[in-house]
Amino acid sequence: MNFNVAVIKGDGIGPEIVTEAQKVLDKAGEKFGFTLSYQEVLMGGCSIDACGEPLTDEAIAVCKKSDAVLLGAIGGNTSTSPWYKLEPSKRPEAGLLKLRKSLNLFANLRPAYLYEELKQACPLKEEITEGGFDMMIMRELTGGLYFGDRKTVVENGVKKAYDSLTYDENEIRRIAKRGFDIAMKRNKKVTSVDKANVLDSSRLWRQVVEEVAKDYPEVTYEHMLVDNCAMQLVRDPKQFDVILTENMFGDILSDEASMVTGSIGMLSSASLNDTKFGLYEPSHGSAPDIAGMNKANPIATILSAAMMLRFSFDLDEAADAIEVAVKKVLEDGYRTVDIMSEGKTQVGTVEMGDLICQRI
Ligand code: NAD
Repeated sequence: MNFNVAVIKGDGIGPEIVTEAQKVLDKAGEKFGFTLSYQEVLMGGCSIDACGEPLTDEAIAVCKKSDAVLLGAIGGNTSTSPWYKLEPSKRPEAGLLKLRKSLNLFANLRPAYLYEELKQACPLKEEITEGGFDMMIMRELTGGLYFGDRKTVVENGVKKAYDSLTYDENEIRRIAKRGFDIAMKRNKKVTSVDKANVLDSSRLWRQVVEEVAKDYPEVTYEHMLVDNCAMQLVRDPKQFDVILTENMFGDILSDEASMVTGSIGMLSSASLNDTKFGLYEPSHGSAPDIAGMNKANPIATILSAAMMLRFSFDLDEAADAIEVAVKKVLEDGYRTVDIMSEGKTQVGTVEMGDLICQRI
């Protein structure tokens, strides 16, 4: 079994962390009987330097014909890098926006998982996090308020601004189906989050999600108002499995959920379209302050690679093995500098990748 993966190492720590993720993927491939063919693609600052633009059409074409894309991070120091003297549409981040749009990635997945070994980084009280938590925020990424019509007008000498929040039933149905499919691979619970007591778009959201829920009798379904969800995330995060929500609510709730887990170097993510195709990347940026120093934590990228195996290739056993290997490394006391604490053994990026491979 072979899969084609477009690899975008990007800028800053990107090449270091993606190299470790590829090492771990190849180890999992040896053990579980699959191979990955990688094709490297430039995006971000490195593409500006080589091709004069942050993402070429040729690069997009390579991504489109692959089975999945693995991305490190892009961008440089926004105060000192010459990339940020260019007009906004030519800067590194414009490449990422163009890629997401061209690939029609409408579902964003951000897991929030509390590792027992890192719980000192969690800002919540111990009695709340006892036993850990493990949730997946599923956010609609291409509709809603961020893509609606907007304008600013002056009426009778007073400035007035409008943003419109629109969803049609097809947009809601496709993300809801994805959410329930993913719940079937996890603990079979979906919490759909809306503001149906006020917003028409939320009332339609709730109606369509309820219809989709009927096709998944094994999944426990509930709905929750977004203000309540924001409270519940810090009051009792253990209650959640998959949180399914629209674009703006998801933007806010996914940051809240990731904060309660502690470290930025541990946060993976995926963006999916309506096929098996997906873009997999850590939630953090290119960390130019530590680039090339063998200091970056590769775990967020390695866990994103595990998501790729699970969601794009249905290689659940191999994905589980990577996730368990990460846990074992932490249990064995190894830490990169960002998650280092007293009495633990500090290792670099490459060593962390090796230690995870040894445990697969
Ligand atoms: P950042 O996430 O790159 O870094 C914030 C802080 O966290 C830094 O101190 C950094 O050293 C640390 N950090 C981040 N990832 C780490 C890791 N894996 N291991 C250890 N420490 C880590 O955010 P920033 O400094 O605001 O942005 C730097 C550049 O990254 C900017 O150009 C920004 O536009 C870009 N960026 C890119 C993406 C992306 O590619 N998706 C996302 C966010 C920011």
